[in-house]
Amino acid sequence: GIQAAQALPARTKSTRLFSRAMPVFPGGVTRATVEKDPIPFYVAYGEGAYLVDVDGNRLLDLNNNFTTLIHGHGFEPVRQAASDLMRMGTCFANPTQHEIGLAELLVDRIPAIEQVRFVNSGTEAVMFAIKAARAFTGRPGIVRIEGAYHGAYDWAEAGQAVDPNLSDRAAIPRAIPAYHGTPASVADDVHLIRFNDVNGLEQRLDALRGRVACVLIDPMPSRAGLIHPTATFVETLSSVARKHGILIIADEVLNLRQGYAGASPRYGLTPDLVTAGKIIGGGFPIGAVGGREEVMRVFGTQVNKPLLPQGGTFSANPVSMVAGRVAMEAMTHENFNHLEALGERVRVGLESSISRTDAPFCVTGASSLFRIHPKRLAPTEYREALQNDAQDRVMKELARHLLQWGILLPHGAAASLSTPMTNSDIDLIVAAFDDFLNVHAA
Ligand code: PLP
Repeated sequence: GIQAAQALPARTKSTRLFSRAMPVFPGGVTRATVEKDPIPFYVAYGEGAYLVDVDGNRLLDLNNNFTTLIHGHGFEPVRQAASDLMRMGTCFANPTQHEIGLAELLVDRIPAIEQVRFVNSGTEAVMFAIKAARAFTGRPGIVRIEGAYHGAYDWAEAGQAVDPNLSDRAAIPRAIPAYHGTPASVADDVHLIRFNDVNGLEQRLDALRGRVACVLIDPMPSRAGLIHPTATFVETLSSVARKHGILIIADEVLNLRQGYAGASPRYGLTPDLVTAGKIIGGGFPIGAVGGREEVMRVFGTQVNKPLLPQGGTFSANPVSMVAGRVAMEAMTHENFNHLEALGERVRVGLESSISRTDAPFCVTGASSLFRIHPKRLAPTEYREALQNDAQDRVMKELARHLLQWGILLPHGAAASLSTPMTNSDIDLIVAAFDDFLNVHAA
């Protein structure tokens, strides 16, 4: 049965913890991305599709640690494998068999990955992929999609936000650093194109050829709308990049969860390098850069010194390697189909509530990912996906309303589903959203 709306979950103990956190963390949190309205929920433990906070609230988790936990919380095979592993120790400067196991799985499943290197985060994976492309081509520049999120490496961060001085929507966007602390000079080597802008892509790559090492692209960029690339965009990218010897880096840190072989094959994209993270660590810190053997050679060969040495104290730590292998092995075709069906059910359900009430909302996404926009028309790229203050307020109200139904919805980011979720979890999300629209329209 569908439960009726209740009051907002109590946050007495969370409030107490937050007041302890305030003096010791800037802003009271260790990650700027922690959602707080006005304070965060402090977690006691996670259990399948749900997390339980310190006040005893049980919340359906649509964040899944920023889409990482494809099996939800406390997935038993991962818990078992990781605790067994920890009996032998947790990290060594020497290699272990476990890194080979996870590497073999990725090489087997993902067509573009012939070889791989492990790091500790998606940010690091993107950084090393960009460096590898520069080392391979001998060129400094990168081309990336305006507004897309690729982590905190300076050259990946620049261009993540729109230039506030840009009034002409047709103008070529400048890759300004998104935050203070990043030198403006990075913009000399970062060039922007707009998602699905075929002409812009072609003109930029033709004009910049010889100066550009790679195009960095997330096939379904969350901040740029969580929308698909068009076939023409992918074809143009592939042919123009090949013509100029520019490498394609598919950033699948988030979108690898779209399918057994990752996201790129779904869109006919054949990247030279792929970055991965999140789900491949089974809930432990991880990142990976993989790709064509010819390009991966910059990291070293049997005989030559590497052009680009890559290390990392915790890279390929066996806990992440084992947990990742077990979590990924459990992502069978059957489980991907299960997530595909749940994703379809949630998007169709939300859309039918929207059309029934004629409310100014829309839904984007694919497979186990979805995003609700407070806009009538689905955005086609980042500037259309941007929300004004009024739209931000609506999304906060929506998140608050869903909380009353025991659902934790990320505000401005992709919501994600996990394998322990069932049709009744999905129907609860849809009922809560439907209830919000009724209240909102009234
Ligand atoms: N690239 C993409 C597409 C991401 O979504 C993220 C994280 O959300 C990153 C890179 C950075 O990964 P991490 O947070 O593990 O550094």
